Amino acid sequence: MLQILRNADVYAPTALGIQDLIVGGGKILWMGAAAPKIAELAQGLTGNKSILGRETDLQGRRLIPGLIDSHVHFTGGGGEAGFATRVPPLALNQFLDNGITSAIGVLGFDDCTRSTAELLATTRGLCEHGFGAWCMTGGYHLPLTTLIGSVREDLVHLDRVIGVGEFALSDHRSSQPTLAEFLRLASEAHFGALATNKACILHLHMGDGARGLEMVRAALEQSELPAAMFQPTHINRRRVLFEEALDLAADGCPIDVTAFPVAEDEDAWSAEAALELFLETDLPRERLTISSDGGGCLPEFDENGRMTAMEVGRPSSITDCLQNLLNRGLALETVLPFFTSNVAQTWRLQGKGQICVGADADLVTLNSSGRPERVMLGGAFTQTQTSGARDHAAPEPKTQPSKNN
Ligand SMILES: [Zn+2]
Repeated sequence: MLQILRNADVYAPTALGIQDLIVGGGKILWMGAAAPKIAELAQGLTGNKSILGRETDLQGRRLIPGLIDSHVHFTGGGGEAGFATRVPPLALNQFLDNGITSAIGVLGFDDCTRSTAELLATTRGLCEHGFGAWCMTGGYHLPLTTLIGSVREDLVHLDRVIGVGEFALSDHRSSQPTLAEFLRLASEAHFGALATNKACILHLHMGDGARGLEMVRAALEQSELPAAMFQPTHINRRRVLFEEALDLAADGCPIDVTAFPVAEDEDAWSAEAALELFLETDLPRERLTISSDGGGCLPEFDENGRMTAMEVGRPSSITDCLQNLLNRGLALETVLPFFTSNVAQTWRLQGKGQICVGADADLVTLNSSGRPERVMLGGAFTQTQTSGARDHAAPEPKTQPSKNN
């Protein structure tokens, strides 16, 4: 069925002004100043004026590519305070209701009771709904959790597996890997990238440890591996770590900010503050992405290290972040790439993250307050309740959270 979207204020992410779009077969087929009427179009294409079609007048609403969340615990994360703290799996509407049309799944801390097989099956299930889903092999620990025996075999033989991680560094919950072990793991990911043309990024969970990013610096100094394959995440959890990450970005590493809640007195940057700091640098803007850690666990501990409460990371946090940035006065076309085109480029997601002819028709309209309103997934509007469904910011935790996943 052909669809015409009229009077869309398109952010591709570049601001293109008012455009009409013709959508069919899950793709954007045409974009321009004035699309013909659906009957004329059908007649011209097929000789049949009565072909099914629909026109939707977007009345000047902002139209953006669907958001891409590159760090999500599809099958649930957590489990750091016993079995009862394992976070349940995420539901598809937790993405669609927030304008997220693609995501990359990770296992995280719990790579013992959770498996790559379960993650991959969940990823494939999301794909069957038309959602853009991929996942990583491995988890926090060595020996790495894989499905068919090794990192490179998973990367080469499993189409939806496009990276390795989140692999933990500088964290008490990591495997405390040596440089030699880290380099061996990175070499497997690099092999995957060469053999498949997939991104095969080594996605690094950064903990609170003072060692920070020294392992990555050592890897770059002591090996021939390319900087572009190392992507630290949660880099805004400590301010010194963020500075280290900016230095690595200057050397060519992609870096990922997590949109978790940050208390005012915390030695961390909110995703909004981190992005503003990044925009003040001369670094190539495509080096930075923002993800949610959705489905991950954010426990709170008392002074004795006992858990007192637990927050759960939500995909909606990147949507809140985008809205907050607009409320701070940043232009939509300035901030949108960090949630869309940068992610697609870093992870080599064909057809995602931009609005252009030939791209996937994963499209989102924003309401006047910058929240997703209508969501199109693969050329079909979804039955989401985005308008007003989340017109409030995520509640702040009562005590200082620990960013764990
Ligand atoms: Zn993590």
